[in-house]
Amino acid sequence: MFTLSPSLVTLLADIVGSEGVRTDPSSLEHYGKDWLKKFSAAPCCAVFPRTTKEVQDIVRLAITHKLKLVPSGGRTGLSGGATASHGEIILSLERMNRILEFDESGGLISVEAGVLTLTVHEYLAPQGLFFPIDFASKGSSMVGGNIATNAGGIRCIRWGTMRDWVLGLTVVTGNGDILNLNGKLVKNQSGYDLRGLFIGSEGTLGIITEAILKVTDLPGDTARILCGSQKAENFLQILARLRLHAKGLSMFEYFSHECLESLGEFGVTHDPFNETYPHYGLVEFEIDNSKERDSLEDLFSSFIEEELLDNVIISASRKQADELLAIRESIPEVLNSRALLHKNDISVPVSSIAHFLPVLRECLRDAYPTCRVAVFGHLGDGNLHVNVIMPSNISKKEFEIQSSEGDKKLFELISRWKGSISAEHGVGLLKKPYLHYCREEPEIQLMKSIKKILDPHLVLNPGKLFDL
Ligand SMILES: Cc1cc2nc3c(=O)[nH]c(=O)nc-3n(C[C@H](O)[C@H](O)[C@H](O)COP(=O)(O)OP(=O)(O)OC[C@H]3O[C@@H](n4cnc5c(N)ncnc54)[C@H](O)[C@@H]3O)c2cc1C
Repeated sequence: MFTLSPSLVTLLADIVGSEGVRTDPSSLEHYGKDWLKKFSAAPCCAVFPRTTKEVQDIVRLAITHKLKLVPSGGRTGLSGGATASHGEIILSLERMNRILEFDESGGLISVEAGVLTLTVHEYLAPQGLFFPIDFASKGSSMVGGNIATNAGGIRCIRWGTMRDWVLGLTVVTGNGDILNLNGKLVKNQSGYDLRGLFIGSEGTLGIITEAILKVTDLPGDTARILCGSQKAENFLQILARLRLHAKGLSMFEYFSHECLESLGEFGVTHDPFNETYPHYGLVEFEIDNSKERDSLEDLFSSFIEEELLDNVIISASRKQADELLAIRESIPEVLNSRALLHKNDISVPVSSIAHFLPVLRECLRDAYPTCRVAVFGHLGDGNLHVNVIMPSNISKKEFEIQSSEGDKKLFELISRWKGSISAEHGVGLLKKPYLHYCREEPEIQLMKSIKKILDPHLVLNPGKLFDL
């Protein structure tokens, strides 16, 4: 267990108030790790600033006293990025949770970094507006964490990632400087776009304290279609046809039959079709009128006639559309809560994804001959979440050894397919040893040089992404 000297606790309390510093074991355990829970929590303290100036003062104190800081949002991250295992101070943005301004004419919302993703959705919806970054953990994740991980989510195919929605950023760098980047400007070609450096930087370059986000119109009606297919390859043809012939495609998700089977076993839902299929797709469209719904029905009937799909359920009401989405969204939570998993979050070019799936299956069968593997993800973005379920007849240690060998095989495959070892969850601690499978050495060296400029005292999130 790590402890912070009473004099340093007092100095922190002078900055944030005594209620903004916690050193009790249950708080340290709670704030010391993220959703992954693979790495144990061992911070020395958790600190909760209320303003950008307080964040700056904490960073300056950390520089002076050679302390390390772990920026922390909703801790829904899945790479150990917000984990403090070596006596670091957790810097939680939890108390910076105000919506600062809604700028109607600019189509913008200014928020502090600790605002929940769901709060942004709920604030905008009554005004007919929409923030399209959306995923199952939105009730706990925070805007700062979404930016630091460049979060994607289920509607990336239509709306892109967090990067596409951040107009302005306020950041405190590891050097203790406050940077106000771009503000509300839509056009600003006056040199390097420094915002981009912090988006997806996993808390290693600066602490994001405020953001100005773009918003868009709330979609009208939604149609969701659950598809069952014998062949994953067919989904690529379907995706191509939908891009050409259908309007408003906003989601193309995938899950394997093992995912549905696991949900059933855990009593969460039962198979929506009477038969089982090896592969399922969940497709969503934003639709304006019943004519558009009719043409979707025609299109999906033709997919059945051409034997590209075996079965479809087209949502007939809002309630049914929500039920179909709930199947897909409950998969990560149910798998995580009921079984010990080895997880990977990989991507390949979208045009390769359907052909990649059978090759991936082969690789996983070879690496994990006795394990069940549940694969789901954002097929329309080329992004798959691979979940290897630990069998009950092996020890945790044996499973770890098998997973580490399995990762090497998987990442060699990813490298050959010109993919990424981390599509959206980040590198953090979990994927750090494998970065070289998708980033070349000169790129890694450049990243390290940037880190040394913005965090020269190596105060921020040590040991994450790469070692220095
Ligand atoms: C059930 C479930 C489903 C998910 N689905 C998706 C999905 O579809 N798409 C997706 O992209 N992700 C998904 N995730 C992963 C996760 O929710 C996202 O990565 C999310 O953006 C993390 O936000 P957070 O606030 O929880 O960040 P945290 O977990 O607290 O932190 C994540 C990283 O960001 C850093 N950080 C946090 N706040 C700041 C800040 N203010 N300044 C600088 N650095 C900071 C941390 O140090 C850490 O490295 C899912 C997670 C779960 C549990």
